[in-house]
Amino acid sequence: MAYEAHPDRYDTIPYARCGRSGIQLPRVSLGLWNNFGDDRDRGVQRDIVLRAFDQGVTHIDLANNYGPPPGAAERVFGEILASDLAPYRDELIISSKAGFDMWAGPYGEWGSRKYLLASLDQSLSRMGIDYVDIFYSHRFDPDTPLEETMGALATAVNSGRALYAGISNYDDEQTRRAHAILNDMGVPLLIHQPRYNFFDRRPESGLFDALVELGVGGIVYSPLAQGLATTRYLDGIPSDSRVRTANWIDEKRITPEYLDHVRALNAIAEGRGQTLAQMALTWTLRHPAVTSTLIGASSVAQLDDNLAAASAAPLTADEIAAIEPHAIHRLVDDWL
Ligand code: NAP
Repeated sequence: MAYEAHPDRYDTIPYARCGRSGIQLPRVSLGLWNNFGDDRDRGVQRDIVLRAFDQGVTHIDLANNYGPPPGAAERVFGEILASDLAPYRDELIISSKAGFDMWAGPYGEWGSRKYLLASLDQSLSRMGIDYVDIFYSHRFDPDTPLEETMGALATAVNSGRALYAGISNYDDEQTRRAHAILNDMGVPLLIHQPRYNFFDRRPESGLFDALVELGVGGIVYSPLAQGLATTRYLDGIPSDSRVRTANWIDEKRITPEYLDHVRALNAIAEGRGQTLAQMALTWTLRHPAVTSTLIGASSVAQLDDNLAAASAAPLTADEIAAIEPHAIHRLVDDWL
């Protein structure tokens, strides 16, 4: 049946201005890193994307390498666009990125002009679109002059293949330099995409301050710590969970100490009438640098649970203080 977007889709979710720009983003955005490869059910993938759009989630985040296999998520999203969302293209903010390993040889990753622009063309072709709204440098490249990487973003914008430029996984000092270089090229830096959740608090040490000061928007990824900041693992490891179905989280992270902290966080969430997933998202949204929090979902039920956080009451000072001893940086990652 032909899809028709929900007529009330803009009555549900609040939007926030992305830095000093004309763009507003939904407070919760949807990312297609996992759950949108060839290993998952197409029907569920379509349901998640359309349900998100029906709830006012105008921003869908992708990258060249999302899958599996790499590239599959952009192809799958392109199919959903072609079959359902094409009439709504102007209501959508579609992003893509390049930076991680995508094809063989020295031009298939990192930050060269050669790689970034070829990758962007491939992404456009996989999705069947003429432009992305945001094109990101996915990671800082220590071996390529930043002027070259930023120059490629500026070319992407100036050639019309992207409307805005973004960076991801850059630290505060790299962000300030990237911002200055782009500014000199007449292309504003729209947005930064760092990881931020209860257990990865790196952006609090300078990056968030830089974003506010520079007027750059912030969209934080993995706000649920890939499921570890939810109740997903409280009663064992489900067979359909990310720990079992992907290689990103090692089961050895589910320690008794971790479970104790998650139980304590869950009790605080229950006390304020939220699920733990919702409270984890509300917690990321409390920071003034955060324009949008960028979730993943493996089901429509998870998506719905998460979207409710967009309109939840802010955390009180007492609740933030109660969360603090359990929001432990590096609790689930030692590489940070
Ligand atoms: P996340 O929201 O932290 O984790 C999503 C996972 O958490 C889901 O797949 C699901 O796990 C579980 N989950 C979601 N909602 C839940 C709920 N309500 N209750 C219980 N469990 C729930 O985000 P992420 O998938 O790691 O990342 C989100 C997006 O950020 C990506 O799609 C991508 O767009 C972006 N990202 C960017 C970078 C970068 O370098 N820029 C890196 C990573 C991600 P199960 O699958 O186990 O059900």
